[in-house]
Amino acid sequence: MAEIRSYQMFIDGAWSEAADGALLDSINPATGKVWCRFPAATSSDVDRAVEAAHRAMAVGPWATMTATARGKLLRRLADLLAERADRLAEVETTDTGKLIRETRAQIRYVADYFHYFAGAADKLEGSTLPIDKNDMFVMTVREPIGVVAAIVPWNSQLMLAAVKIGPALAAGNAVVLKASEHGPAPLLELAQLCADAGFPAGVVNVVTGLGDPCGARLTQHPLVARIAFTGGPATARHVVRNSAENFATVTLELGGKSPIVVFDDCDIESAVNGIVAGNFGASGQSCVAGSRVIIQSGVFDEVTARVAERAGRIRIGDPQDAATEMGPLATKAQLDHVEAVLARSLAGGATLMGGGNRPQGFAQGWYFEPTILLCPHPDIASAREELFGPVLSALRFETEADAVRLANDTAYGLAAGIFTRDGARSLRMMRQIRAGIIWINTYRAVSPMAPFGGYGQSGAGREAGFESLLDYSRTKTVWINTGSAPMGDPFAMR
Ligand code: NAD
Repeated sequence: MAEIRSYQMFIDGAWSEAADGALLDSINPATGKVWCRFPAATSSDVDRAVEAAHRAMAVGPWATMTATARGKLLRRLADLLAERADRLAEVETTDTGKLIRETRAQIRYVADYFHYFAGAADKLEGSTLPIDKNDMFVMTVREPIGVVAAIVPWNSQLMLAAVKIGPALAAGNAVVLKASEHGPAPLLELAQLCADAGFPAGVVNVVTGLGDPCGARLTQHPLVARIAFTGGPATARHVVRNSAENFATVTLELGGKSPIVVFDDCDIESAVNGIVAGNFGASGQSCVAGSRVIIQSGVFDEVTARVAERAGRIRIGDPQDAATEMGPLATKAQLDHVEAVLARSLAGGATLMGGGNRPQGFAQGWYFEPTILLCPHPDIASAREELFGPVLSALRFETEADAVRLANDTAYGLAAGIFTRDGARSLRMMRQIRAGIIWINTYRAVSPMAPFGGYGQSGAGREAGFESLLDYSRTKTVWINTGSAPMGDPFAMR
């Protein structure tokens, strides 16, 4: 039997158990067996991490480090990530079931995110103001905000951590990163890289544990000044309520039910690849899954048939095998959820065009077939609710106006795909669809330069891009009296 690995949390530059010694199990989704254990942080562990971060910002090398020097540390971290990407990928794949071919490529790209933020560190500038008073010189300076609480779910954790801690550290903040209880190992490995890169003690802390108490204490801690949260909308409501305690500013990256709109005049092969990428990439466990596929009548039968044919050829298997195209779902609860929504959808009038079962030959692990549902109307459960699994809901439309109406018929608004050869139409659609990210004739592309975030129930705020750096700093306004006369009447506003 393989040995069960043990992880500790990283607090104030040292490895640490939970105060009460409690541990949680992480299960390998491909086998259904425990592969590592990690601490279940108590409130006092979280307090220790936040206090360490607060201290690091007040005293010690981080407090006085130049922005250029911070950038150099981030660059070193990026290089270490790229060097050790294969080991990290193996850990993430074992911990979450995400395909090795995706984790390897994604972690190398995460290094590029850190390079981007490293370069941005010393580009944050204040300004001088053309003030409307002759005897005053007024300027603004940008300062770090304080302790940042960064909370991530289990999918794409290193990427989701990078878009939080990258800009936070570039702008001079200190971070307490909370890993998901379903697969925290990659972020604990990242903590080691931060130490190896030379970040001073307390600047990056990684805590592990359950949403409550670990996440709950972190989001209401009085010394936390900013919260960057990625997860589901129900948890986000707790986070926002908690932030009423510390008035931290909050960024929310939540779920989605994103549309992929396919017009009659599209390049069919491109659309089919976009639909497969948007629904079966990462086994559909992606916040930007394009799980409402809205297809114009003229190509509906052809597109659904070709997607079903491609889905039928998807290689399901061991996520550690580079040839595998779809691995297991990350947790048993996920699998149960997918099956429950599927059952309600079929009862509500959807027709199964492919998949719909646990695949044969996988007695262990939480595998599910790529599944295609034909939905007669948008109120079918699978067309409304986020499944976070490999289930696609296909809906038919006739006119461009119908397509806009269907695309916007959701409480979410994270992303949308549009497949058409008509450039003007793609721009008309882009303007009318309420979503934070629009992909035209492509799907699931990301970059450190491109802001990422949603509308409505998909959240608030943006990650990545230069504007995210502004969110991790704040403006201080400085007034200097340059007049030769002393300050006058104390009872009149100047
Ligand atoms: P989740 O909301 O259950 O958990 C997310 C994180 O919040 C975990 O670390 C969890 O421990 C923590 N948490 C739980 N309760 C908390 C509390 N009371 N206070 C503070 N933190 C708490 O989400 P999940 O099931 O792990 O992930 C799936 C969800 O994440 C989906 O809805 C998905 O769409 C979303 N997601 C969004 C994006 C995006 O960028 N928009 C990216 C990936 C995933």
